[in-house]
Amino acid sequence: MSVDETFVHDIVKKVMANMQITGDVSGMHGVFKDMNEAIAASIEAQKVVRTMTLDQREKIISIIRKKVHENAEILANMGVNETGMGNVGDKIMKHHLTADKTPGTEDIQTIAWSGDRGLTLVEMGPFGVIGAITPATNPSETVICNSIGMLAGGNTVVFNPHPNAKKTTIYTINMINEASLEAGGPDNIAVTVEVPTMDTSSIMMKHPAIHLLVATGGPGVVTAVLSSGKRAIGAGAGNPPAFVDDTADVSKAARDIVNGCTFDNNLPCIAEKEIVAMDSIADELMDYMISENGCYLASPEIQDKLVHTVMDEKGRLNRKCVGRDARTLLSMVGVNVGPEIRCIVFEGPKEHPLIKEELMMPILGMVRVKTFEEGVNTAVWLEHGNRHSAHIHSKNVDNITTYAKALDTAILVKNGPSYAALGFGGEGYCTFTIASRTGEGLTSAQTFTKRRRCTMSDSLCIR
Ligand code: NAD
Repeated sequence: MSVDETFVHDIVKKVMANMQITGDVSGMHGVFKDMNEAIAASIEAQKVVRTMTLDQREKIISIIRKKVHENAEILANMGVNETGMGNVGDKIMKHHLTADKTPGTEDIQTIAWSGDRGLTLVEMGPFGVIGAITPATNPSETVICNSIGMLAGGNTVVFNPHPNAKKTTIYTINMINEASLEAGGPDNIAVTVEVPTMDTSSIMMKHPAIHLLVATGGPGVVTAVLSSGKRAIGAGAGNPPAFVDDTADVSKAARDIVNGCTFDNNLPCIAEKEIVAMDSIADELMDYMISENGCYLASPEIQDKLVHTVMDEKGRLNRKCVGRDARTLLSMVGVNVGPEIRCIVFEGPKEHPLIKEELMMPILGMVRVKTFEEGVNTAVWLEHGNRHSAHIHSKNVDNITTYAKALDTAILVKNGPSYAALGFGGEGYCTFTIASRTGEGLTSAQTFTKRRRCTMSDSLCIR
């Protein structure tokens, strides 16, 4: 460990220990004992934010970006320490990406029509106070991303985070409010409670002052917000297949797939969760993954042991295995490997539990198919109708088009690692809330606004 790493590690330990031992979050901005108090503070902050110019909002956002860069290592360490998931190096990169590529107020666009009968504008205004539920898998990244987008849209936000990530979330929310205060903005632009629970979540969802709910997580929470009777954005689960057809650059496909799958130990919902490979290139693909990309080929016996380790008898995930690296997972089934091993691979039928389930672990099963059509059908089956993310490695434009239409997902990466879709080695902006189920796709500031038409009849057209 270098001096800097030791320094950061010590800070994280101190912050975590302080929160652990004393439970003391007093002095932390935006943190309340009671959910109703948190919402009341957010309502007050919203009254101020509503009157702020776009420039003033942008000033806060630029300080948030700066603080995220400065705190990237601390936040990454906190996330891994608290949740036991992911890896620090990748999480650091995720924070820098979030700071650089989450859209701000520039994302809020006005649409205008002008003509003989005057001028009509559609402007995007705030919802007011938004209720957001965030996952354990990208805890601080999601809070930062949501906060920047929601503030850019003129909103304030009440978070009910995953209980397993509450300390990381509290630290992040405090940092966001410090940025606002530094920029001359109000406190409590983002708030939460000391102890988030299902009860605090329910209070938030039912509160009359909250008109928009944004849930990032698995199927349970998305169904919960969609059943609330309020406008809701549901960013739910995925199980992204990576299809490799017989025209692909197989060596590159192997590298991209393993890089995407192992990023932050497979926690991102967009990450490659299984491979569908055409028979003619399947052996070559497997060879490249094993010989050049640090993959361990699991025998049927090890696959069985993994099934019984990473899942219980009802097929529920063992949370102690989610977001763990390949070496740790293998050690749990009695296999010791060196640090060069990044991913566990094997070949199996699509019904194999390690293939069909969204594991969020660097375990990559490969399903062999005889034809392109069979491959598309297999990928559709494996994606389970989530319409979330899918990836393809192919040089045939017709094949890519057919696959894209059949999968019908919010994200489709062609010939690259999955994280290219988040602007990491690919074009476009970043988000950690991908609204697959409700159709907004990759959320950004404009997703968190209401459209308002403003019409001036018979004047202000100066053409
Ligand atoms: P999770 O579903 O266990 O928890 C997510 C959040 O929802 C937490 O805050 C949790 O406390 C809350 N929650 C869960 N059930 C709830 C209910 N019935 N009512 C109210 N709140 C509830 O998910 P996780 O383990 O934190 O995250 C992993 C899951 O989230 C994966 O399925 C992954 O694909 C998905 N995810 C999706 C996106 C996306 O943008 N679409 C991003 C990250 C994670």
